[in-house]
Amino acid sequence: MAALPHLTGFTREELAALLGELGEPRYRADQVFQGLHGRRLMSFDEMTDLPKALREKLNASATASTLTIESKYTSTDGTRRFLMRTADGNPVEAVFIPTENRDTICFSSQSGCALNCDFCLTAKLGLLRNLTAGEIIEQIVLVLNDVYGVGGETPHGTNLVAMGEGEPFMNFKNLIKALDIMADEKGLFIVPGRTTVSTAGVVPKIHEFAALARRPNLAISLSAANDELRNKLMPINQRWPIDELLAAAKAFEKTLKRGERFTFEYVLLGGVNDSDEHAEELAGLLRKHDLRKVKINLIPHNPAEQLEYRPSSPEQVLRFKEILEQNGVSAYVRTPRGRDIYAACGQLAAKQEPNLVQIAGR
Ligand code: SAH
Repeated sequence: MAALPHLTGFTREELAALLGELGEPRYRADQVFQGLHGRRLMSFDEMTDLPKALREKLNASATASTLTIESKYTSTDGTRRFLMRTADGNPVEAVFIPTENRDTICFSSQSGCALNCDFCLTAKLGLLRNLTAGEIIEQIVLVLNDVYGVGGETPHGTNLVAMGEGEPFMNFKNLIKALDIMADEKGLFIVPGRTTVSTAGVVPKIHEFAALARRPNLAISLSAANDELRNKLMPINQRWPIDELLAAAKAFEKTLKRGERFTFEYVLLGGVNDSDEHAEELAGLLRKHDLRKVKINLIPHNPAEQLEYRPSSPEQVLRFKEILEQNGVSAYVRTPRGRDIYAACGQLAAKQEPNLVQIAGR
């Protein structure tokens, strides 16, 4: 049986067309949109503002939810990891990261990942498949409902980062559609300014992204300043080497408005890419490409049994940051969140931790 259309991934116009086919007026589409995204309902039966006959029609021809929460884990630092499954059984992970004055949700764009970065655990899953726009959005709905109750107010507002499983720019169309739907003020209303998309360096898509009228913030995972090392750490570099990547970054930079910046992420791997010389090389590379509106997020490596790398010493992390700053480059050291529950950067590999399991009631 073919899967029923998942209305969470429909734009308001698409909903209007579908409901039109069912003989319904336009305002019904707005009610359904508001129900799915504004009230974060996950079944048509709960949309009691719709006539019962319409709810039944919708139940017969569409679905309001496809993901299930398989397990969830809470870190000692308050971070929560949600391991979800698609209707066809593929893993999807989303992470809720609270800080004092804002919440961030890290979501997946694909189940698994094709890129095979050497220091990342998600690579071990391989690519399972692209997520649909509806599956991308539903992760955020599920997380917010779990944390704040169905439709509950989100007191801090929500930032989104496309930094979970997958390479967002390998699923560009669905990603951008999902972000557009989530930005709608009648729905989740998470505007592009609160959203960051991270890419390992899919160069043609960086150009495409730069041309979007309303677009989120951009982060590029760099992690090495020469091709020899980057080819090994991030095989995508063999397809789009550093000079091409940074030329795309420069083109993107030119489209930024005054005061806006973008980010390079640099995972610090002890003894591999974290020496003083590596820091100088990185600063030199930014100079060579005349990148000025960039900041560097230094991510301490999150180790895992299956990964060969080890974190840099805290002293070397600080040295690295200082050298960048001495070269006029803004650099920030990121604090890992949720390491104890496999929720931190590069740790999403659908890991089951029996000792920490809480099955969510749904
Ligand atoms: N595929 C995209 C989106 C994933 S973002 C991308 O690569 O940008 C995940 C971030 O975590 C990336 O910056 C990646 O370089 C980083 N990362 C991967 N493995 C890591 C690890 N073991 N420790 C710390 N950061 C890691």
